[in-house]
Amino acid sequence: MEDYKALSKLRHRKQLFMSAIFILLLGAGRFFPVIGYLVPVCMVLGIYLGISRGRIWCNYFCPRGSFLDTAGKAVSLGRKIPSFLKRTPFRIAVLLFMFSMMALQVASRWPDFRSIGFFFINMLSAVTLVGIILALFIHQRTWCTFCPVASFSSWFGRGRNPMKIDSSLCVECRLCSRVCPLQLEPYRFKSEGLRDMKEKDCLKCGLCIAACPKKALSQTRNPEV
Ligand code: SF4
Ligand code: SF4
Repeated sequence: MEDYKALSKLRHRKQLFMSAIFILLLGAGRFFPVIGYLVPVCMVLGIYLGISRGRIWCNYFCPRGSFLDTAGKAVSLGRKIPSFLKRTPFRIAVLLFMFSMMALQVASRWPDFRSIGFFFINMLSAVTLVGIILALFIHQRTWCTFCPVASFSSWFGRGRNPMKIDSSLCVECRLCSRVCPLQLEPYRFKSEGLRDMKEKDCLKCGLCIAACPKKALSQTRNPEV
Protein backbone atom coordinates (compact mmCIF):
# COMPACT_ATOMS: atom_id res chain seq x y z
CA MET A 1 0.00 0.00 0.00
CA GLU A 2 3.00 2.30 0.53
CA ASP A 3 3.74 2.04 -3.21
CA TYR A 4 0.19 3.08 -3.97
CA LYS A 5 0.27 6.07 -1.61
CA ALA A 6 3.55 7.33 -3.07
CA LEU A 7 2.37 6.89 -6.66
CA SER A 8 -0.99 8.47 -5.94
CA LYS A 9 0.67 11.46 -4.26
CA LEU A 10 3.06 11.98 -7.15
CA ARG A 11 0.27 11.74 -9.69
CA HIS A 12 -1.85 14.19 -7.68
CA ARG A 13 0.99 16.72 -7.63
CA LYS A 14 1.41 16.50 -11.38
CA GLN A 15 -2.32 16.90 -11.86
CA LEU A 16 -2.39 19.96 -9.59
CA PHE A 17 0.37 21.51 -11.68
CA MET A 18 -1.51 20.82 -14.93
CA SER A 19 -4.75 22.13 -13.37
CA ALA A 20 -3.05 25.42 -12.46
CA ILE A 21 -1.82 25.76 -16.06
CA PHE A 22 -5.33 24.96 -17.29
CA ILE A 23 -6.99 27.68 -15.18
CA LEU A 24 -4.30 30.19 -16.13
CA LEU A 25 -4.67 29.53 -19.86
CA LEU A 26 -8.47 29.54 -19.73
CA GLY A 27 -8.43 32.93 -18.01
CA ALA A 28 -5.70 34.42 -20.21
CA GLY A 29 -7.49 33.16 -23.34
CA ARG A 30 -10.24 35.72 -22.72
CA PHE A 31 -7.67 38.47 -23.42
CA PHE A 32 -5.25 36.68 -25.74
CA PRO A 33 -7.29 34.56 -28.18
CA VAL A 34 -4.12 33.13 -29.72
CA ILE A 35 -4.05 30.85 -26.63
CA GLY A 36 -7.14 29.16 -28.05
CA TYR A 37 -4.97 27.51 -30.71
CA LEU A 38 -3.51 25.34 -27.94
CA VAL A 39 -6.82 23.45 -27.98
CA PRO A 40 -6.32 21.80 -31.40
CA VAL A 41 -2.60 21.39 -30.64
CA CYS A 42 -3.45 19.47 -27.44
CA MET A 43 -6.04 17.39 -29.29
CA VAL A 44 -3.55 16.36 -31.99
CA LEU A 45 -0.88 15.62 -29.36
CA GLY A 46 -3.32 13.58 -27.26
CA ILE A 47 -4.45 11.55 -30.27
CA TYR A 48 -0.86 11.01 -31.43
CA LEU A 49 0.22 9.77 -27.97
CA GLY A 50 -2.92 7.68 -27.70
CA ILE A 51 -2.32 5.93 -30.99
CA SER A 52 1.41 5.38 -30.40
CA ARG A 53 1.46 4.56 -26.65
CA GLY A 54 -2.09 3.97 -25.46
CA ARG A 55 -4.24 6.39 -23.51
CA ILE A 56 -1.45 8.03 -21.50
CA TRP A 57 -2.48 11.61 -22.40
CA CYS A 58 -5.57 11.34 -20.21
CA ASN A 59 -3.63 10.33 -17.10
CA TYR A 60 -2.19 13.75 -16.19
CA PHE A 61 -0.92 15.35 -19.42
CA CYS A 62 -4.40 16.55 -20.32
CA PRO A 63 -4.93 19.84 -18.44
CA ARG A 64 -8.71 19.47 -18.35
CA GLY A 65 -8.53 15.82 -17.28
CA SER A 66 -6.18 16.83 -14.48
CA PHE A 67 -8.50 19.67 -13.48
CA LEU A 68 -11.49 17.30 -13.34
CA ASP A 69 -9.51 14.69 -11.42
CA THR A 70 -8.54 17.25 -8.76
CA ALA A 71 -11.07 20.09 -8.48
CA GLY A 72 -13.86 17.95 -10.00
CA LYS A 73 -13.19 15.10 -7.61
CA ALA A 74 -13.48 17.43 -4.63
CA VAL A 75 -17.11 18.23 -5.49
CA SER A 76 -18.19 14.99 -7.16
CA LEU A 77 -20.81 12.60 -5.84
CA GLY A 78 -18.53 9.80 -7.12
CA ARG A 79 -21.32 7.70 -8.61
CA LYS A 80 -20.97 4.86 -11.09
CA ILE A 81 -20.50 6.16 -14.66
CA PRO A 82 -23.44 4.91 -16.79
CA SER A 83 -22.23 2.21 -19.17
CA PHE A 84 -23.99 3.66 -22.25
CA LEU A 85 -21.61 6.64 -22.11
CA LYS A 86 -18.71 4.25 -22.79
CA ARG A 87 -20.32 2.53 -25.76
CA THR A 88 -18.97 3.06 -29.26
CA PRO A 89 -22.18 4.49 -30.88
CA PHE A 90 -22.42 7.19 -28.21
CA ARG A 91 -18.72 7.99 -28.51
CA ILE A 92 -19.00 8.21 -32.31
CA ALA A 93 -22.00 10.55 -31.99
CA VAL A 94 -20.08 12.88 -29.63
CA LEU A 95 -17.03 12.79 -31.89
CA LEU A 96 -19.03 13.62 -35.02
CA PHE A 97 -20.89 16.42 -33.25
CA MET A 98 -17.70 17.97 -31.87
CA PHE A 99 -15.69 17.74 -35.09
CA SER A 100 -18.48 18.98 -37.38
CA MET A 101 -19.21 21.87 -35.00
CA MET A 102 -15.50 22.78 -34.98
CA ALA A 103 -15.25 22.58 -38.78
CA LEU A 104 -18.37 24.74 -39.28
CA GLN A 105 -17.27 27.37 -36.77
CA VAL A 106 -13.74 27.63 -38.15
CA ALA A 107 -15.07 27.83 -41.74
CA SER A 108 -17.59 30.56 -40.85
CA ARG A 109 -14.92 32.66 -39.08
CA TRP A 110 -12.17 32.12 -41.62
CA PRO A 111 -9.77 34.02 -42.10
CA ASP A 112 -10.35 35.95 -38.84
CA PHE A 113 -7.71 34.24 -36.68
CA ARG A 114 -8.66 36.23 -33.61
CA SER A 115 -12.27 35.12 -33.84
CA ILE A 116 -11.20 31.49 -34.40
CA GLY A 117 -9.00 31.70 -31.29
CA PHE A 118 -11.97 32.98 -29.29
CA PHE A 119 -14.10 30.13 -30.59
CA PHE A 120 -11.58 27.56 -29.28
CA ILE A 121 -11.50 29.27 -25.87
CA ASN A 122 -15.31 29.33 -25.76
CA MET A 123 -15.47 25.68 -26.77
CA LEU A 124 -12.96 24.78 -24.05
CA SER A 125 -15.02 26.72 -21.48
CA ALA A 126 -18.29 25.08 -22.57
CA VAL A 127 -16.86 21.55 -22.53
CA THR A 128 -15.26 22.19 -19.13
CA LEU A 129 -18.63 23.35 -17.81
CA VAL A 130 -20.21 20.12 -19.09
CA GLY A 131 -17.36 18.18 -17.45
CA ILE A 132 -17.94 19.94 -14.12
CA ILE A 133 -21.71 19.34 -14.20
CA LEU A 134 -21.10 15.64 -14.99
CA ALA A 135 -18.52 15.54 -12.19
CA LEU A 136 -20.98 17.09 -9.75
CA PHE A 137 -23.82 14.68 -10.40
CA ILE A 138 -22.01 11.52 -11.53
CA HIS A 139 -18.22 11.15 -11.40
CA GLN A 140 -15.25 13.47 -11.98
CA ARG A 141 -14.09 11.53 -15.04
CA THR A 142 -17.48 11.11 -16.72
CA TRP A 143 -16.58 13.48 -19.56
CA CYS A 144 -13.35 11.52 -20.10
CA THR A 145 -15.30 8.36 -20.96
CA PHE A 146 -16.46 9.86 -24.26
CA CYS A 147 -14.09 12.78 -24.96
CA PRO A 148 -13.07 12.58 -28.67
CA VAL A 149 -9.33 12.44 -27.82
CA ALA A 150 -10.03 9.54 -25.44
CA SER A 151 -12.14 7.73 -28.05
CA PHE A 152 -9.40 7.93 -30.68
CA SER A 153 -6.83 6.73 -28.14
CA SER A 154 -9.07 3.83 -27.10
CA TRP A 155 -9.85 2.67 -30.61
CA PHE A 156 -6.44 3.03 -32.20
CA GLY A 157 -4.12 2.71 -29.20
CA ARG A 158 -5.58 -0.46 -27.72
CA GLY A 159 -2.96 -3.08 -27.07
CA ARG A 160 -0.19 -0.51 -26.57
CA ASN A 161 1.71 -0.79 -23.28
CA PRO A 162 -0.73 -3.44 -21.97
CA MET A 163 -1.19 -4.77 -18.45
CA LYS A 164 -1.21 -8.41 -17.44
CA ILE A 165 -2.88 -10.21 -14.56
CA ASP A 166 -1.54 -13.33 -12.89
CA SER A 167 -4.70 -15.34 -12.29
CA SER A 168 -2.93 -17.59 -9.78
CA LEU A 169 -2.31 -14.57 -7.52
CA CYS A 170 -5.53 -12.57 -7.90
CA VAL A 171 -8.01 -13.15 -5.06
CA GLU A 172 -10.68 -10.85 -6.57
CA CYS A 173 -10.58 -8.38 -3.68
CA ARG A 174 -11.43 -5.68 -6.29
CA LEU A 175 -9.11 -3.11 -4.79
CA CYS A 176 -7.72 -2.48 -8.29
CA SER A 177 -11.16 -1.36 -9.40
CA ARG A 178 -11.70 0.85 -6.36
CA VAL A 179 -8.53 2.86 -7.01
CA CYS A 180 -8.98 3.14 -10.79
CA PRO A 181 -9.66 6.76 -11.82
CA LEU A 182 -11.93 5.55 -14.63
CA GLN A 183 -13.76 2.85 -12.65
CA LEU A 184 -12.21 0.13 -14.81
CA GLU A 185 -12.14 -3.44 -13.51
CA PRO A 186 -8.75 -5.12 -14.12
CA TYR A 187 -9.69 -8.20 -12.06
CA ARG A 188 -12.33 -9.08 -14.66
CA PHE A 189 -9.49 -10.12 -16.99
CA LYS A 190 -8.41 -12.80 -14.51
CA SER A 191 -9.54 -15.63 -16.77
CA GLU A 192 -7.17 -14.40 -19.49
CA GLY A 193 -4.14 -15.15 -17.31
CA LEU A 194 -0.86 -13.57 -18.34
CA ARG A 195 -2.05 -12.55 -21.77
CA ASP A 196 -2.23 -8.81 -22.55
CA MET A 197 -5.34 -7.20 -21.10
CA LYS A 198 -7.76 -5.91 -23.70
CA GLU A 199 -8.81 -2.87 -21.61
CA LYS A 200 -8.67 -0.15 -24.24
CA ASP A 201 -9.54 2.70 -21.86
CA CYS A 202 -6.68 2.08 -19.43
CA LEU A 203 -4.74 5.29 -18.69
CA LYS A 204 -1.55 3.36 -17.79
CA CYS A 205 -1.50 5.24 -14.49
CA GLY A 206 -0.26 2.17 -12.61
CA LEU A 207 -2.42 2.86 -9.54
CA CYS A 208 -4.03 -0.57 -9.64
CA ILE A 209 -0.63 -2.26 -9.99
CA ALA A 210 0.66 -0.40 -6.93
CA ALA A 211 -2.51 -1.04 -4.92
CA CYS A 212 -2.87 -4.77 -5.58
CA PRO A 213 -2.03 -6.53 -2.30
CA LYS A 214 -1.12 -9.75 -4.13
CA LYS A 215 1.10 -8.16 -6.81
CA ALA A 216 -1.06 -9.86 -9.40
CA LEU A 217 -0.92 -6.98 -11.88
CA SER A 218 2.01 -5.94 -14.03
CA GLN A 219 2.75 -3.81 -17.04
CA THR A 220 5.09 -4.59 -19.88
CA ARG A 221 6.57 -1.08 -19.61
CA ASN A 222 6.78 1.21 -16.61
CA PRO A 223 3.57 3.02 -15.66
CA GLU A 224 3.42 6.44 -17.34
CA VAL A 225 3.48 8.53 -14.18
S1 SF4 B 1 -6.34 -5.83 -6.40
FE1 SF4 B 1 -5.10 -7.57 -7.16
S2 SF4 B 1 -5.85 -9.35 -6.01
FE2 SF4 B 1 -7.40 -7.72 -5.77
S3 SF4 B 1 -8.88 -8.10 -7.45
FE3 SF4 B 1 -7.36 -6.64 -8.23
S4 SF4 B 1 -5.82 -7.90 -9.29
FE4 SF4 B 1 -7.01 -9.28 -7.96
S1 SF4 C 1 -6.83 -0.08 -15.01
FE1 SF4 C 1 -5.13 0.43 -13.60
S2 SF4 C 1 -3.56 1.42 -14.87
FE2 SF4 C 1 -5.50 1.42 -16.02
S3 SF4 C 1 -6.46 3.39 -15.54
FE3 SF4 C 1 -7.27 1.92 -14.09
S4 SF4 C 1 -5.92 2.08 -12.30
FE4 SF4 C 1 -4.85 3.06 -14.01
